Amino acid sequence: MGVDSLEGHDVESERWVALTGSLGLNGVFEGGLKPRGMFSAIATDFTPDYERVCMTQSYVIIGDGIAGSSAAETLREEAPEADVTVITDEGEALYNRILIKEFAKGKLPEAPISIHDESWYDDRDIELELNTLVTNIDPDGHTVSTHDGETYEYDKLLIATGGTPTQLPVENSDADGVHHFWTFQDARNIREHIEEADTATIVGAGLLGIDLAAICGAQKVDGNYLMRGDSWWRYALDQEGADIMHDAMRERGVTPVFQSGVDHFETDDDGHVTTTVDPNGEEFDSDFVGIAIGLDFNLELLQNFEIEMDDGVVVDKYMRTSAEDIFAAGDLTRYYDVILGEHAQNGSWGSAKEQGTIAAKNMIDPETDEFRWVSSYSITHFDFPFLSFGHPTLGEDSVSKKYSETEWRRLAIKDGKIVGGVLIGDLAPQSGYKQLMREETFVGDQKEALLKEKFSADDIAATQEQ
Ligand SMILES: Cc1cc2nc3c(=O)[nH]c(=O)nc-3n(C[C@H](O)[C@H](O)[C@H](O)COP(=O)(O)OP(=O)(O)OC[C@H]3O[C@@H](n4cnc5c(N)ncnc54)[C@H](O)[C@@H]3O)c2cc1C
Repeated sequence: MGVDSLEGHDVESERWVALTGSLGLNGVFEGGLKPRGMFSAIATDFTPDYERVCMTQSYVIIGDGIAGSSAAETLREEAPEADVTVITDEGEALYNRILIKEFAKGKLPEAPISIHDESWYDDRDIELELNTLVTNIDPDGHTVSTHDGETYEYDKLLIATGGTPTQLPVENSDADGVHHFWTFQDARNIREHIEEADTATIVGAGLLGIDLAAICGAQKVDGNYLMRGDSWWRYALDQEGADIMHDAMRERGVTPVFQSGVDHFETDDDGHVTTTVDPNGEEFDSDFVGIAIGLDFNLELLQNFEIEMDDGVVVDKYMRTSAEDIFAAGDLTRYYDVILGEHAQNGSWGSAKEQGTIAAKNMIDPETDEFRWVSSYSITHFDFPFLSFGHPTLGEDSVSKKYSETEWRRLAIKDGKIVGGVLIGDLAPQSGYKQLMREETFVGDQKEALLKEKFSADDIAATQEQ
């Protein structure tokens, strides 16, 4: 993440105003900024009103994605007196990351993608620092510092810094015209570029790769979708399910290419990508390249002190990290999944939102609420709906069935219980499957019933009662 475009903020002087200029004689604030946590250290001997103000907790959140923003909202709702600060290196407040693909497709203007403007934070007395990269956390001093030399004190800190798309480690992967996809700004760049492209190559056979393929299709650009194996999202779908997706890609003008990948990119004299060469030596014309091979979690801030990490920051069911007064939420967590009974990861909007909410509740009042969640992730690019839920790539067992040319289902099973699944075409049975997963119902001996075309959770209950 570069800091070149970041602007400075005079936070210290704001604090000074808060400390010196805003207290009325009765100790109640009469305007200006509220003090942050640092104030409690110097104000110990005041009237009860003063004490109430001076006991104010200070919450700092790093990241204004859905995890950070939902935490801020919950903190404000449940701790009206608290100081809440959200710091983000992005130049815009929370927007809908799910919808940026529709913008890149050319199907949506900018406006509906924004979720909060700056006034949303002002109205709630939440301090929002845009264009501000947090560069250090000092857990002993309970402070975080930023690229422009500012320091913020916290009583409780939330890390909600998400991830950054993984770069492809091949020659010319940083060439002009090679795109990764995570931010609204990425979507603007993609849209601007793809509208002028004639040929495209997509790399990364997962949920974000297919978004890039759909963008090519929507923008009427012929694309090749290079995959390492024999099928798209091979860890969650079987061949029959994947073939439905492959046919849908072809209908949109995107050709899946199997047993492929990228050896290197070639560029023109201006450094713009022209060709993708795969490991078999095959060449693909590429005015535009979209890469989605995974996410590197933004964990740099956690390198300088002791905190448990395991390809993500490890949190318990209350979103607590192993470091005192530091919580984490969203994509970057390896959280304790109470349904699975083990630590797990999940990159989805709903899960990140819920984790932010749960973290906030436990930051205010320890161990009040646990994270218990069955996530969903849907795709609406094709003529049929697609939904994955839970952890479709886990489990030692599975059941699957094709119902028609565009209807298919697979359930992932671990220790006889549903832990995730993928539905194509008919999504109606999802609620039954999710219920069984949530309730941790044993279904290991009910495979036929699970695959009934019009499935509901009652089918399992009824069978078990017999
Ligand atoms: C194109 C696209 C499509 C998607 N589609 C779906 C979908 O259909 N369904 C679904 O469920 N999910 C979808 N997702 C995934 C979903 O958007 C994410 O799971 C979710 O947004 C994660 O939220 P988060 O708050 O954990 O992290 P993020 O949204 O990544 O937010 C983290 C924020 O922290 C900031 N930050 C990082 N480091 C620092 C630092 N040091 N200082 C200050 N700020 C920092 C980042 O810039 C960022 O703004 C999609 C994602 C993308 C990119």
